[in-house]
Amino acid sequence: MSSNLYDGFYIDGAWSRPSSPEVVEVVSASTEELVGTAPVGANGDIDAAVAAARRAFDDPNGWQHWSRVARADAMESLADALDSRSGEMARRVATQNGMPVSVANGFEGAFPQTVLRYYAALIRETDLEETRQGLLGGRIRVRRLPVGVVGAIVPWNFPQTLAAFKLGPALALGCTLVIKPSPETVWDAHLFAEAVHESSIPDGVINIVPGGREIGAHLVAHPGVDKIAFTGSTAAGRKVAQTCGRLLRPVTLELGGKSAAIVLDDADLNTQMRAMFDATMINNGQTCYLGTRVLAPRSRYDEVLDALTTFVGELQVGDALDPGTEIGPLASAGQRDRVESYIESGRDSGFTITTGGGRPKGLDRGWFVEPTIFANVDNTASIARDEIFGPVLVVIQYDDIDDAVAIANDSEFGLGGSVWSTDAERGESVARRILTGTVGVNNFLSDPVAPFGGIKSSGIGRELGPEGLVSYQNLQSIYLDGGGN
Ligand code: NAD
Repeated sequence: MSSNLYDGFYIDGAWSRPSSPEVVEVVSASTEELVGTAPVGANGDIDAAVAAARRAFDDPNGWQHWSRVARADAMESLADALDSRSGEMARRVATQNGMPVSVANGFEGAFPQTVLRYYAALIRETDLEETRQGLLGGRIRVRRLPVGVVGAIVPWNFPQTLAAFKLGPALALGCTLVIKPSPETVWDAHLFAEAVHESSIPDGVINIVPGGREIGAHLVAHPGVDKIAFTGSTAAGRKVAQTCGRLLRPVTLELGGKSAAIVLDDADLNTQMRAMFDATMINNGQTCYLGTRVLAPRSRYDEVLDALTTFVGELQVGDALDPGTEIGPLASAGQRDRVESYIESGRDSGFTITTGGGRPKGLDRGWFVEPTIFANVDNTASIARDEIFGPVLVVIQYDDIDDAVAIANDSEFGLGGSVWSTDAERGESVARRILTGTVGVNNFLSDPVAPFGGIKSSGIGRELGPEGLVSYQNLQSIYLDGGGN
């Protein structure tokens, strides 16, 4: 008999009883052991959460009418409440989705607070109204108003961090939210709800209903919602966009990727390999922006391949909760099937595997796949075109910089990428030619101050930075000084 990890959903500042008896099993990705069960939401729970968010938004003395400073204080109190749960948050995420706990400590246990504090500081100093002298004589007041009730849909790979990307700007502007986490990551969502409850964020401003795609779709189409912020796969993003198009509902979409890591002929692989690992494989390859297509110059191809093969072959694969683990298991059996089928397809196409390609020895439980490298891959192969979402790199040869740039840009996606060189200027000159929303030189780290997002099939809109506020605001111009001007 497994135990219930918790009983209800955080709606309107309290734990409400689920409207359906359905539960999800929380299973350790590393051991396949059952941790416990937790309720998953049904449409009725989404309805209750939207109603609460609507009331909180429409309250004439409510959140949107608080001063910017008061909202910033409350956001900081939420960051503080998350700080005191940091280790436990990392542990819960690592248990569920296999993220190595050393990675989870930095991301899921800490980064959301950085994002919340960044937007709290930003909104303190950001005037939401300005007055302009018009060209036709009168003055105009330009107001930035909160867009309203936000439906925030997040995937399981960085559940807390990606929720914070939406929460930060939405809360700063005075929006209220319904967050829908994935069924794979319900346990951390509950801990987050406890932090919200402890904070001074008012009731109804943040409501959380974890569940599957059906309730996600219900939230997207809900008449009480004003804006959708979606992070997930490109396939699901297209469906969300269709609904929002029909409803003329504002939407931001952070979707999949298949980015390139371009190794220039002067790269120093000895000193850059750790940073390159972070930019190409972090979180077991379950990260949207990773440069999983490594482009290596023909002149140094064998050397790059050997260095990568040695480094990846020596990575410590193991239980996500072990602090020494560099590659943990994938998030689910289904995710492992998907990754293994891509490895199979690469093999069937005749590409050489230089390391990995199977399941690690000695790890009979847990959804592990060996970190894997394919050599001499053609950019037209499905393993070079599709997002695999696992620890699998393809290494592709290029002739010269123009060729490297052409290969990097020959992708359905346009999210991330990186350039590796001992000459930072040269690295940047190549980075400037990459058609993606973000790109790194000798690293890849999405920083809260910089807009993050993609082009092409990687999405629409940006999160983070001052630009992230734009997606959560409506503009109103009031033409003043009428009558006779
Ligand atoms: P997914 O698309 O299956 O699910 C993502 C979320 O959307 C989940 O909460 C899911 O329940 C919900 N959902 C699915 N279909 C829906 C629908 N039709 N309507 C409403 N909600 C729906 O993706 P996943 O497998 O959970 O996550 C992995 C994907 O997310 C990868 O493609 C990855 O690249 C992408 N991702 C993108 C970013 C980014 O910022 N660009 C960041 C992380 C992950």
